[in-house]
Amino acid sequence: MVDISLLRTADFWRQRASELVPDSHALIDGKRVESIDGATFDCLSSIDGRRLAAVAACAASDVDSAVASARAAFSRGDWAEQSLADRKKVLLRFADLIERHVDELALLETLDTGKPIRDSLQVDVPSTARCIRWYAEAVDKVYGEVAPTGSDALALVTREPVGVVGAIVPWNFPMLMAAWKIGPVLAAGNSLVLKPSEKSPLTAIRLAALALEAGLPAGVFNVVPGFGPTAGKALALHHDVDAITFTGSTATGRLIMQYAGQSNLKRVSLECGGKSPNIVMDDYPDIARAARAAAAGIFFNQGQMCSAGSRLLVHSSIREPMLEQIARFAQRMVPGDPLDPDTRLGALVDEEQTQKVLGYIESGRTEGARLALGGRRVREQTGGGYIEPTIFDGVRPAMRIAREEVFGPVLSVIGFDTLEEAVRIGNDTHYGLAAAVWTRDITAAHRAARSLRAGMVYINCYDADDITVPFGGYRESGFGRDKSLHAFDKYTELKTTWIDLS
Ligand code: NAD
Repeated sequence: MVDISLLRTADFWRQRASELVPDSHALIDGKRVESIDGATFDCLSSIDGRRLAAVAACAASDVDSAVASARAAFSRGDWAEQSLADRKKVLLRFADLIERHVDELALLETLDTGKPIRDSLQVDVPSTARCIRWYAEAVDKVYGEVAPTGSDALALVTREPVGVVGAIVPWNFPMLMAAWKIGPVLAAGNSLVLKPSEKSPLTAIRLAALALEAGLPAGVFNVVPGFGPTAGKALALHHDVDAITFTGSTATGRLIMQYAGQSNLKRVSLECGGKSPNIVMDDYPDIARAARAAAAGIFFNQGQMCSAGSRLLVHSSIREPMLEQIARFAQRMVPGDPLDPDTRLGALVDEEQTQKVLGYIESGRTEGARLALGGRRVREQTGGGYIEPTIFDGVRPAMRIAREEVFGPVLSVIGFDTLEEAVRIGNDTHYGLAAAVWTRDITAAHRAARSLRAGMVYINCYDADDITVPFGGYRESGFGRDKSLHAFDKYTELKTTWIDLS
């Protein structure tokens, strides 16, 4: 089926963008509100730095009010005690509304993050709707247990919503990362207070309004836009928040755990950064396919992906042809106007991120890696941060570009001679989000998959994805899992009810 939206021209999207007036309010207790002290922050477009909106800058008092509203809705049972059939209907309507507003949501996401409109249309919005729909359908698919206690007792193990969940999300996939929280949090019957990134708050605000329109009771889904050290910290420190679900950097993840310890020992789950190894063996028969996946695995979303295959480990005997093929694919990804449906590589989220990535490119050069492709900022006159797809060859595992999360379109290529060596280099990181192995040897593939310390291991593919499988990492990539039925573990309490039958 042809996506009608993609048949539209860049001029169509530019015109729509010029007419768009984004909602810039917080959403608390079912109402669009200013922050209590009236403070706002400028939400800038990643495309050209233009101001899109002055968004409510929530502080601790706004967070208090959102948490109070979430708690009241939960205590009244407005949502938690609705019949499962009714909860499902509301969430399905919510998913339908997301799809119906595909153009508006995609445009907001592209303006706010710089990602190509074709990706917002084809990936972000549909995946968000699919996620909400999947959890809507899961509402009545999760069963409790009867424990095998023996004949003198009946012990029931049931799941209950934890209560009020605080969600703090990043800017790289603002809508989708939020949806991975919203879906299971609401399906389990909780109330939610969502703090979007200050760099990309617009779609979260719109999603909450659509949820209300779908019939979600007031107070069940609140949005508090604002800065991390104010709104985010207040949420994570709040004594009446039962669980905090976080996606973002490992550095902020550490703080979130401290805040939980300093307050009420709320449950914490963390989806943090990564430095994932993508290992290509010399027996893999289709170099072009592996190269295309390696390029997509680092350049999609301008490289701003937690699971990016940022370390490409290539068997020394195929390094040259592999590099050539990747460069061929990468050269087609010319940075362009994100509003043009032909653009494959857009802008980085903002100037700060652009400077950070350029700093890493500089460090690769000074530490002695060979710049094989790209490395330059382009389209600077637009006011946006556009960086060419960049490949460093001859990277040594000790270099910063091999150890630290760049979060930009920068690939580090490292050679190896045996799979054991590759696995050792792959595991030589404090992260553990994703990893991949390309080989036709099924035994070697399984052995490597077992040895790689990562939450997701791909064999002969990269970044394969489905809502049915858990997403999350080992070690400093965090703990807890988004997606799949396992996400309910984060948002439900297990209750044992013991009935004496003696
Ligand atoms: P970040 O840690 O700077 O910010 C994430 C969120 O935390 C934002 O909403 C921010 O406002 C908030 N925050 C910042 N300081 C805070 C504080 N002191 N207290 C409470 N909240 C605070 O991360 P980012 O730059 O927005 O996102 C990029 C990071 O996210 C990368 O490291 C990336 O790997 C990671 N990420 C991980 C996953 C995953 O599923 N593992 C997915 C997407 C992104």
